Amino acid sequence: MDNIISIFKERKLKLTPQRLAVYKYLMSTKEHPSAEIIYKALQPNYPTMSLATVYKAVKTLVEVKLVQEINVGEGNFRYDGNPKQHAHIQCLSCSKVDDLEDVSFSNLNQTAEDKSGYKILSNKVFFYGICKECQ
Ligand SMILES: [Zn+2]
Ligand SMILES: [Zn+2]
Repeated sequence: MDNIISIFKERKLKLTPQRLAVYKYLMSTKEHPSAEIIYKALQPNYPTMSLATVYKAVKTLVEVKLVQEINVGEGNFRYDGNPKQHAHIQCLSCSKVDDLEDVSFSNLNQTAEDKSGYKILSNKVFFYGICKECQ
């Protein structure tokens, strides 16, 4: 939590209770929720907060790199409280998004570098499949 306070201070951004609530919610879940889901989850405690406020809060959190935006296609953005680089996997049946941890894709960067001549800085790896519950 100290992290967000110092980052917002540094950037001279206002840490409103709404922004903090959105951040706390994202830190508490591994579900990679959409802005709509965050909005619904915070409704009971923040009845006056609008969906537009949630959108603005997640955008700000993404900008300061506390939160990761994941594009799961068709303009459908999900948000992740873990800003570290990691791969994701989405179920094509129930559309949940899971983390794929402890899998290294650094060799993939090397391969891409060899093939393209680019200096690769990062990659976004996304897998699609059918989760255990849906199988
Ligand atoms: Zn599923
Ligand atoms: Zn994730």
